[in-house]
Amino acid sequence: MHQRGGAPRVRSSATIYVGRRAGPPHVKIGCVADCLFCRIAAGEVPATRVLESSRTIAFRDINPQAPVHVLVIPRAHYDDLPALAAAGDGLLAEVAAQAHLVASQEGIADSGYRVVFNTGANGGQTVGHVHAHVIGGRQMTWPPG
Ligand code: 5GP
Ligand code: ZN
Repeated sequence: MHQRGGAPRVRSSATIYVGRRAGPPHVKIGCVADCLFCRIAAGEVPATRVLESSRTIAFRDINPQAPVHVLVIPRAHYDDLPALAAAGDGLLAEVAAQAHLVASQEGIADSGYRVVFNTGANGGQTVGHVHAHVIGGRQMTWPPG
């Protein structure tokens, strides 16, 4: 995971888009060195993929918290939800739509499911490549821990 606010190390020849330097990070990069989910997107780290689109990948969480626990990521690197939202290119909506498709595919769309973007340290985000958790297959509790 690259450091927030720091200069990301890039190993691809893809065009790099970096937003404003001040304020929250708004970074889109093709592939960030040492980013676990970039490595999964590149096929360098194995993952059980359940759904793909041209701009997204969905794969099973390695430590599932419910009978269904799938992560949906953009193939391109965005640090977190505000960075993805700021891109304004419809990718956030595509991630959300893919999350619902995953739920349908997993048979939990009708029973209900939860979509979570843990964001930042207090939000419990441990991987700095934005991802939507799609969790279901059991009754969810509220409030979350
Ligand atoms: P976060 O804590 O950032 O919201 O979610 C990161 C998620 O990634 C966690 O639920 C964690 O279990 C999952 N995860 C961490 N490493 C791997 C991995 O190598 N493969 C897969 N499939 N999931 C991972
Ligand atoms: Zn990444």
